[in-house]
Amino acid sequence: MTTLAHPASGSPGVGLRESHAHVAMLGRELSALALHDCTSRGEALDRISREAARRREAREPGWLLAAGVRVEAWDDPRWPTMPELDACCPDRACFVRGFDYHSCAVNRHAFESAGLRDATPDPEGGVIGRSADGLPNGLLLEAAYALVRDAIPEPTRDQWRGMLRLGLSTLASHGFVEVDDLLSQPWLGAMLAEMHDAGDLPLRVRLFVPWTRIGEEAAAARDYERPGWVELGGGKAFADGTLNSRTAWMLHRYRDPLPDHPCGSALMPEPELRAAMKACAGVGVWLAVHAIGDGAVRAVLNAREANPGTPVRIEHAEVIDRADVPRFAELGVTCSVQPCHLLYDTEVLKRQLPHRLDRVLPLRELLASGLEPGRGLVFGSDAPIVRPDPEDSIVAATSRRCPGSPPEMAVAFDQAIPEEIARACLAAPGRK
Ligand SMILES: [Zn+2]
Repeated sequence: MTTLAHPASGSPGVGLRESHAHVAMLGRELSALALHDCTSRGEALDRISREAARRREAREPGWLLAAGVRVEAWDDPRWPTMPELDACCPDRACFVRGFDYHSCAVNRHAFESAGLRDATPDPEGGVIGRSADGLPNGLLLEAAYALVRDAIPEPTRDQWRGMLRLGLSTLASHGFVEVDDLLSQPWLGAMLAEMHDAGDLPLRVRLFVPWTRIGEEAAAARDYERPGWVELGGGKAFADGTLNSRTAWMLHRYRDPLPDHPCGSALMPEPELRAAMKACAGVGVWLAVHAIGDGAVRAVLNAREANPGTPVRIEHAEVIDRADVPRFAELGVTCSVQPCHLLYDTEVLKRQLPHRLDRVLPLRELLASGLEPGRGLVFGSDAPIVRPDPEDSIVAATSRRCPGSPPEMAVAFDQAIPEEIARACLAAPGRK
């Protein structure tokens, strides 16, 4: 009944599944000026200048958004400053996002568009970078980053449609035939249904929406669901923060923790997790919980134990205590991991959790405990946080380190798994 052009259509089970991505955001990221492969600040500034000039000539309105900056990889690891960005892009707001989505550099237009002034103090949980003279230098971290991010004009519906198409086609070009979207916008289901009906949807999409609106979403899904192609997968909740910001909820202390948060932070204590599970079970869908630290993972498993019958996925599970490994299979909890993040997180893991490196993504133990590759243990990328290339996860799961880095850089090498098992964790199981 479907008119899809993708070669895998009609043959479910062929192709790959991306188990954790943000499809529209991936398209948005790909629409920004790409700076991920710059090797110096000069090169980044040069690309920004040329893009600003092109936009000026083409009379294209709007902000100049650049993305993917990783200054740690530059010869001189210093962010572009506000005066440098003002010089490159004097006529419009310029926002240069770090690859981790927690930092940016901005020009004065962008800074002031967010209501910030030279004398504005740091917002709670954020830092406004300053130069030696005390003036803002354009670098914004965490909550300060979020202030300017939120000031970027929202794309129009047509722009989102184009970005969504770009995100989907990029995933399809990597061989994916289905994707789980792990924090879907309220308009996403209807837009995907439209694309499906026009024969223009290159892969299957399951939506996961904030669990607090799972009731209204389940009602809306009656209109937008296209069985096998566009489906409501479930609710999404956040049990903790991230490793890089030291807010992932750990059982053990960080070596250099945030003040007052020796073990990160619990965003959702167990009673709230149980409420989320009940809400999702009430409308017959999954609950997917973001849990990066071993403390968060344990809390979700505990909450699931108290709610038998609710289908639960744990997203990320980057650190898992030995005692909790067998509980995934016992409780029927899906473990949805992104091995490719090992390629990017090695440094923060070694710096902050040197005493827990053996508990990082214990894939071999999870498989030995009975999780089935591709069903109980599934791989994703969390694109656009990192690129959605499935080979990155294969490399990371089999070698536990960046290609080309010395063997001693491997994280928990004894948890490496064979390539064919890693590929099975990326295989689309098809539809029942
Ligand atoms: Zn995500």
